[in-house]
Amino acid sequence: MDSIKTRGLIIRSTDYGEANRILTVFTEDLGIVSANVYGAKSLKKGLGAASGIFVFGDIMLKDTNGRLRIEEIRVREGFFPLCEDIVKLSLASYFADLAHTAVGDGNRDESVLRLLLNTLYAICYNGVDLELARTVFEFRLAAVGGYLPECEHCVACNTDDFGGELYFDIARGGILCGKCRRADSFKISEAARRALYYILHAEDKKIFSFNASSEVCTLLGAVSERYISEHLERSFKTLEYYKKMLK
Ligand SMILES: [Zn+2]
Repeated sequence: MDSIKTRGLIIRSTDYGEANRILTVFTEDLGIVSANVYGAKSLKKGLGAASGIFVFGDIMLKDTNGRLRIEEIRVREGFFPLCEDIVKLSLASYFADLAHTAVGDGNRDESVLRLLLNTLYAICYNGVDLELARTVFEFRLAAVGGYLPECEHCVACNTDDFGGELYFDIARGGILCGKCRRADSFKISEAARRALYYILHAEDKKIFSFNASSEVCTLLGAVSERYISEHLERSFKTLEYYKKMLK
């Protein structure tokens, strides 16, 4: 039996049997893995609270013939405001769902884990608008996943002289000028293009430090939702649920 020490964020926690729990954990060293917590005793010993959803901590795992068992979790951040707000919790569940789909099981990806942690922190403690957080998370996840949208030049003719007419094209992965636009391109504004540039290129810690009008946020929010779902090739029930809660 090998012991593995890592750090990770619990992105799913399900009780089963009389006193067992199965966790999906986004770890630094092993990527996203499933691991069991066995027995009421472990849950009573403090692992109960420590093995809840969206707990981030130092984790001791034991590998028994390829099955992982949680031995210990030392909580570093519990993101407890999520438990007190169903809208925030549902948004966080959507983020976890997106991250899991983008990264898959067993693949290390520290940049996605860091993005997820930074975004949870922003909605819990920095009062960041939830729709803005969703937009930023979706675009940054696409960018670190290799789908960085082009937002300086027209992706078809390469011009950067837009003459006030700008479009975002989901399939082409970037902006189009008025001449190259296609029927299903989103019309965007210069302010939206600048905000998008900031979102995509700001340092990790500063991704939420910008101001944009509610028109720009609404516009980019519609684009980012389509963009990420197109690239991950699926829709998300957790997103539908979040939207229902937001109303
Ligand atoms: Zn063009």
